[in-house]
Amino acid sequence: MSTTITRPYPDISFDDRMATVEFRVSPRPHITVETEVCRSCTTKACVTACPANLFVPTNDGGILFNYEQCFECGTCYQICNEAGAITWTYPDGGHGVVLRHG
Ligand code: SF4
Ligand code: SF4
Repeated sequence: MSTTITRPYPDISFDDRMATVEFRVSPRPHITVETEVCRSCTTKACVTACPANLFVPTNDGGILFNYEQCFECGTCYQICNEAGAITWTYPDGGHGVVLRHG
């Protein structure tokens, strides 16, 4: 007996999916990272947790961060266990990620 799996969504490549996403970049970063705090962080959990790969470890133990393609999911803020490392807000009105369906 065979089982047919029906997916509730069409197969679509990552690139095609990302083509439906627009980032309206605000001049004000809605997330800031205090890299001096990051230097003492042993997990660097944000690096693997961010779905957009926006956290990049540097050779001197710090973190490079770019807010411009942020999905606003909040994962980095939730997973970071160092007080004061991440300041998280939503982007100013009219800015940020725009997800289009269809
Ligand atoms: S943002 Fe948080 S989890 Fe990421 S390196 Fe800095 S202190 Fe660590
Ligand atoms: S809010 Fe989400 S996408 Fe944005 S930097 Fe944090 S983990 Fe990455």
